[in-house]
Parts: sequence; C-alpha cells; structure tokens
Amino acid sequence: MSDCIFCKIVDGKIPAKKVFEDDDLLAFNDINPARPVHVLMIPKKHITSLATATPEDTPVLGRMLAMANAIATAQGSPDGFRIIINTGRVGHQEVPHLHIHIVGGPDPVGPMLKRI
Ligand code: AMP
Ligand code: ZN
Repeated sequence: MSDCIFCKIVDGKIPAKKVFEDDDLLAFNDINPARPVHVLMIPKKHITSLATATPEDTPVLGRMLAMANAIATAQGSPDGFRIIINTGRVGHQEVPHLHIHIVGGPDPVGPMLKRI
C-alpha cells in the first residue's frame, strides 16, 4: 500500500533498525520505545489490522507469535515479554498496518492495564 508507513519500511523507502526478516515477516525497533526492548513485528503483506485479517492470514499470524520469543530473547528479554496488538479505534491503533509490539527487557514491564 503506497501511503502506508510500514509498507514503506518493507520496501526500504523509510529506514528502520531491522532485527529479523524473512520472506513474510519483518521485525524492527520501535522508533519511540516504551521499554528497553520494544520491537514491532509486521507481515510484509499489507494487512490493516486484526479487524481486517482473513482466514488466509492465519499462517502468517501464527508465525508472528511463534517467532516472538526468539526475537525477544535475542534483543535482551530472555525471561519473558509482552505482546500487544492494538486494533482499531478502541484499541488505539495509530499505524494501520497490522503489527505486534514485543516489549520487555531486564525488568518486568508492569501491570497490564489500569482497572476500571
Ligand atoms: P500502534 O499505536 O499500535 O499503532 O503503534 C504504532 C507504533 O509505531 C508506535 O509505538 C510508534 O512509536 C511506532 N512507529 C511509528 N513510526 C515508526 C517508524 N518509522 N519506525 C519505527 N516505529 C515507528
Ligand atoms: Zn502497509
């Protein structure tokens, strides 16, 4: 998708600090990290969000989750991590290309969400 910032990273039109890449997936450091380890992993194919993913996207979505531990460990979060997938308006998704945040580091990332 031509005006998508993450598609531009896939195409090499915007620089990113890549930490993993294969035919279908790309992982790179978040430009504004919230934790010492903060990696974004995306499908190279443009999928807007989990709300628009289709059954044909199941394999790539599964691979993203299956890769997360290896990436977190390699980046300095060997004792666990958190996956966040913000989705749509309610999920406060800012970049409309599906991505998983992998956050961690040496210390616990903190409580999940503030209770209502
Ligand atoms: P979300 O709110 O889940 O859509 O998160 C979007 C994330 O993308 C934020 O954490 C941003 O810091 C990150 N981000 C935006 N632009 C870039 C970029 N050019 N390179 C790396 N990360 C980015
Ligand atoms: Zn895209």
